[in-house]
Amino acid sequence: MSIIKNVAVIGSGTMGNGIAHTFAQFGFLVSLIDVSKEALDRGLGTITKNLDRQVAKGSISEADKTTTLSNIQIFTDLKQGVQFADLVVEAATENEDLKLKIFKDLDTFAKPEAILASNTSSISITKIGSVTNRADKVIGMHFMNPVPIMKLVEVIRGYATSDEVAAITMELSKKLNKIPTEVNDYPGFVANRILMPMINEAIYTLYEGVAGVEEIDTVMKLGMAHPMGPLQLADFIGLDVCLSILNVLQDGFGNPKYAPCPLLVNMVTAGKKGIKSGEGFYIYSQGTKDLVVSTKFKK
Ligand code: NAD
Repeated sequence: MSIIKNVAVIGSGTMGNGIAHTFAQFGFLVSLIDVSKEALDRGLGTITKNLDRQVAKGSISEADKTTTLSNIQIFTDLKQGVQFADLVVEAATENEDLKLKIFKDLDTFAKPEAILASNTSSISITKIGSVTNRADKVIGMHFMNPVPIMKLVEVIRGYATSDEVAAITMELSKKLNKIPTEVNDYPGFVANRILMPMINEAIYTLYEGVAGVEEIDTVMKLGMAHPMGPLQLADFIGLDVCLSILNVLQDGFGNPKYAPCPLLVNMVTAGKKGIKSGEGFYIYSQGTKDLVVSTKFKK
C-alpha cells in the first residue's frame, strides 16, 4: 500500500477537482492535469473555496488547508504530469473516444507499474483496459459528487483487472476515509444501473401527467427518505449525462426497458441540461437553494 504516494488526476472539472482535493487532503502528492489552463485555475479556486468551508465547519485546521494546497501541482502537459505517478485517476469528459486516447497515452507515459483508474460513470472498464498493454492494472474508481463529502467509491473490476490491483484500490479508498464497494464491469455498474431507471421512470411519470415536478420529488423525498427527489437529482447530475448513461444501458443490454423518456431527449436537445445550463426541471437563476419549478412544468 505504501507504494502509492504520487497520484495524477486527469481533468479538473466537477469531479477532478474533488478527487484531487481528497487525495491531497489525505497526504498524497497530486498532479492535477487538464488540457485547459482555465479549468485548472477554476479547479484550484473551487478546491480553495471548499477547504475554506471545511475550516469554517471545524472539520480541518487552517494548517491542513495549507498542506492540502501545497500537495497539489497543476499541469497542462499529460506526459509531464503523469511521469512520477504511482496511480492515475482519469476524470476527463465522458466521451469514449477521448478516454481511449487518454489511456493509450497513459500506457506510454506512465510508469509501467502504475495503476490506471477511470472515474467514468458508464464506459466499460474492460474496453478502456483493452487499449493498454496493462489491462490487469486498469480499474474503475467511481467517486460520487461532491467527492470530498460523499463516502462511496464504486470500485469496478474490468474483465482483466488483477486481484492485487483490486485489493490495492480498495485499501487506498479506505485511506481517503471512503467506503469502497467492489463491483463487476457491466453497463452502468451498480450505481447507475439502479439510479438511472428510477430517474427515467420519474421523468415518464411527469411526461404522462401522473403528477407534477414538486409532487414527484416530494413523494420520493418524504416517502422513501431520499435526501433529494429524482428530478432534482437529475438536474444536479446533468440531464445530458443521464441521457448518455441511459443510452449506454440500452445499447449494452439490448433491452428497451432502458429507453430514455422522450421528454428527457427533448429537454437535452433544447439545451435544458439542469443546473449546469441554468434550467432543467427547476430554474437555477437564484442558485440551487430555493427550488423554483421551470415555467414549462408549472400548472
Ligand atoms: P467536467 O466536464 O466537469 O470536467 C471534465 C474536464 O476534463 C474538463 O475540465 C476538460 O477540460 C477536461 N478534459 C477534457 N479532455 C481532456 C484531456 N484530453 N486531458 C485532460 N483533461 C481533459 O466533467 P465531470 O462532471 O467532472 O466528469 C468527469 C468524469 O467523471 C466523467 O467520466 C463522468 O462520467 C464522471 N463522473 C461524473 C459525475 C458527476 O456527477 N458529474 C459523477 C461520477 C462520475
